Amino acid sequence: MSATLIDGKEIGKKVRGEVRDAVAKMKADNDGYTPGLATVLVGDDVASSTYVRMKHRACKAAGINSYGHIMPANSTQEEVLAMVAKLNADPDVHGILVQLPLPDQVDEETILSAIDLEKDVDGFHPVNIGRLAMKDRDPLFVPCTPAGCMRLLEEAGIETSGAEAVIVGRSNIVGLPMAMLLQKANATVTVCHSRTKDLDAHLKRADIVVAAIGWAEMIKGASLKPGCTVIDVGINRKDDETRKRGYRLVGDVEFDSAVEVSGAITPVPGGVGPMTIAMLMQNTFHAAEIALAKK
Ligand code: NDP
Repeated sequence: MSATLIDGKEIGKKVRGEVRDAVAKMKADNDGYTPGLATVLVGDDVASSTYVRMKHRACKAAGINSYGHIMPANSTQEEVLAMVAKLNADPDVHGILVQLPLPDQVDEETILSAIDLEKDVDGFHPVNIGRLAMKDRDPLFVPCTPAGCMRLLEEAGIETSGAEAVIVGRSNIVGLPMAMLLQKANATVTVCHSRTKDLDAHLKRADIVVAAIGWAEMIKGASLKPGCTVIDVGINRKDDETRKRGYRLVGDVEFDSAVEVSGAITPVPGGVGPMTIAMLMQNTFHAAEIALAKK
């Protein structure tokens, strides 16, 4: 058996198209009112700079204004807080994204808590996460990568209600919010992590597996339940001398063996990756809607 591919490139394109159309309508109906996203990058980490650049490019394509703020790596917590306060007060900025990780001298929780709840397009504010965790409460914004995973499941027509879902990884940005979202979608959720004793026993009964570990090809096809759905969040470099750059990107799941066992699977690259920025565009549009409703 060979699994159906869940095409994140196509689905991400669809989401970005929806946002572009919604932004155009918002502008036309409201005198040019345009959603705006501000990014704050502290330091010059190459990967973080690339992510931020990609976010600005996506904004441009969606018709969203973007404002980039680059701060020195030795910025103090007070300086970053002052930047957040400035952006909180700026009426042209509807969404604020502080690129993580932050340098050691800046406390992540303090900064994320300082972002105006209604501009928290990354969905990392403790109140948004708290609402996500509570029954019958909804956050204003859902973190982008898990939101993208849910959209992939929805587009692929995967039933979550009553499904056994196993999430491998419990980070604040992926594993944990993913577990909360699947629980809200009525799945029976198990969260596995580095101290889980028998990972295979959990994987073997999972209808839905979400892998967010950061370990190249850790989960093999032999560990999966036949016909399950695999959402592979991992992005890892694997040496590959046949490639010009000397490596290729692989997920946390061994694709070649998993594709033979599962019923549906996301590839890496081209699965979850393109969804994260697409959902950020959607969240930024939503933030602009909230601000517009208050005008
Ligand atoms: P973290 O390092 O924050 O978390 C990794 C999680 O995996 C931890 O909860 C850890 O457990 C768990 N883990 C580690 N080793 C094992 C093991 N042997 N068995 C079971 N669980 C284990 O990573 P992130 O959540 O930030 O990212 C995970 C992956 O997803 C990375 O490859 C990252 O690049 C990718 N990613 C992709 C995104 C996208 O847009 N596609 C966005 C964000 C991340 P413990 O808590 O016990 O330490």
